[in-house]
Parts: sequence; C-alpha cells; structure tokens
Amino acid sequence: MGGEVDLGARLKAFVGRAAATAGTGKDPVNLPMIRHWCEAVGDTSPAYAGDAAVAPPTMLQAWTMGGLSGHVDRSGAHDELFALLDGAGYTAVVATDCEQEYLRPLRPGDEVTFDAVIEAVSDRKTTKLGAGYFVTTRMDIRVGDELAGTHRFRILKYAPGGKGPAGKGAASKEPAPVATASNGSVSKESAPRRPRPVINRDNAGFWAGVAERRLLIQRCGDCGRLRFPWLPGCNGCGAQEWDTVEASGDGTVFSYVVMHHPPFPAFDPPYAVAVIELAEGVRMVSDVVGVAHDEVRVGMPVRLEFQQVDEGLVLPVFRAAGRTSGVLG
Ligand code: ZN
Repeated sequence: MGGEVDLGARLKAFVGRAAATAGTGKDPVNLPMIRHWCEAVGDTSPAYAGDAAVAPPTMLQAWTMGGLSGHVDRSGAHDELFALLDGAGYTAVVATDCEQEYLRPLRPGDEVTFDAVIEAVSDRKTTKLGAGYFVTTRMDIRVGDELAGTHRFRILKYAPGGKGPAGKGAASKEPAPVATASNGSVSKESAPRRPRPVINRDNAGFWAGVAERRLLIQRCGDCGRLRFPWLPGCNGCGAQEWDTVEASGDGTVFSYVVMHHPPFPAFDPPYAVAVIELAEGVRMVSDVVGVAHDEVRVGMPVRLEFQQVDEGLVLPVFRAAGRTSGVLG
C-alpha cells in the first residue's frame, strides 16, 4: 500500500458512481422563481414571462437545488470521495467550471427529476493553488422520461498553500510533491513551452520580419492604409495588393488587462496583456515588460524590443519607456 499511485487508483474507482439518484425538484418549474431569476440577472426577454413562458435555460440547475434544507436523497459517494481526499491532505476545494447542455425547454408546471454521477476524476495535477485532483460530476435533469438538459460541474480538491500534502496527521505516506518555486509556481524543469504562433499564408511575412527582428506593418497597395494584424485584403478599400513598412518601435499602451485566471501552461499569472498603439497608428496585442503587472497604465509610452522566449521562439514585446532593461519582466 502506499502513496499517490494507490490513492489515484482508489479515486478512479469512484468514476461512474452515483452522486444523486432519483432526486426530485423541491418545486415544479414556476413563474415566481423565473421572475426572481430574471430580475436578479437583468434578463428582460419576453420569452420568460406570460402564458407561454419558458424558463431561462441557464436556470437548469436551480430546479435541482436543495436550498437551506438540502436534499435527503443524496448518495454518499461524494462524501466518501471528499473524505478520502481530505484524509490524504487535499483539504481545500474550489469550483473550476461548469458546462450545461439544453435539450428541451422547461415550462411552468414541469416536475423535474435528476440523477448525478461522478463522471471523471483526473490524475494528480500541479496547479498554482496546489497539487490536487479535478472531480467532474454530471447531472442529468429530466421531465418524465425526457432529458431536459445536463449540468456538468468540475471542482479541484487540492492541498492548500501551493504545496503537496503536508503537516500533522495528513498524508505522511504521500511522496514529495512536484517541486514548486517559493511563489507556488511550477518549477522550470517541468514548465511547458510557450505556445507557438500559427503561421499561415496570410501572416508568414509578419513572422519572417520578426525573425529578422523587424516589426512589419502591411500597407495597402491602392489606398495606402496601414493594417494590423496581417490580412489578405485592405479594410478600407478591399484591395489585395500590399507592401510593408517597418514600425519605428515607438508606441503607447492603449488598453490592458491583468490575467489572474484561468492559468495557462507556460504563463505565470498575474501578468498584463496590453493593446499597444504603435506610432504608425495600428494596434497590436503584446506584452509590456520592464514594469510590474499592476503598474501598467493606459497611455504609458513603450518601446519595441524582441524577446528570445526560448530557443525556438522570438516575440515582439514592449518595454515601458524609461525603464532600464533587465530590471523586471
Ligand atoms: Zn486600401
């Protein structure tokens, strides 16, 4: 007996087990609940009011919820699964995502029944939150024999603190977790490479320019309008002839977002993604480097440089003007 392999096998044994059987909605589909929902989300569609009303499809799960008093007809599979993970040190939980599929509209008076099954348990994953397991539960919602929709939700049950299971009473049998940096990020040894650009006939010239460390902007061969990103035809006049001009490299931050979630392999959140307005007037999405993610500002002057991301990838990025190279980012 021992360790993560054994735990993984025990977790996989939950796949296919019922999490709820023959559940029944606490109330039939009804207009007051529909009205409250629509008011809460600000949906004024006439489809959800009046004699011919249907329920908003996104209310699917609402009809199955137990409310404060809960449901009595829930099977113990979830509780068992969670207890197993808790005992192994994966004590924290976060909901990660939800998918719904709608097959038949729900109307006032429909009596809803549902079954839920543990559909998948992932292998052990290392995430920014900590190592853990993703558990996917699928609920089938019916009216009579008719499937009205499915509701899938996924949670991550993880060992908090960005580390593997540790501490008193928890999981002394667990092997050491995947090495993590002090900030909880995945160690560089296992870090995946940044995604490669998709190079096609329309944008090959742009990437050829980047390889020579030149940022090329397309210029219409007819009206002279500049365009970015690269396209086969002119946005202004439709002409297909073009040549290029090389960007001076000066620009400003036109807009930006700071990415926290979802995490993508090879990216280390939080980080800023900016729309840069080049001096030539076109805009492009890029990185702002040389400044902390929370110090990027609209209007900030930036200067083009080329970053060797890894042995096979060079990208144009923009350094906050006036910042010395190599301080940050
Ligand atoms: Zn044109």
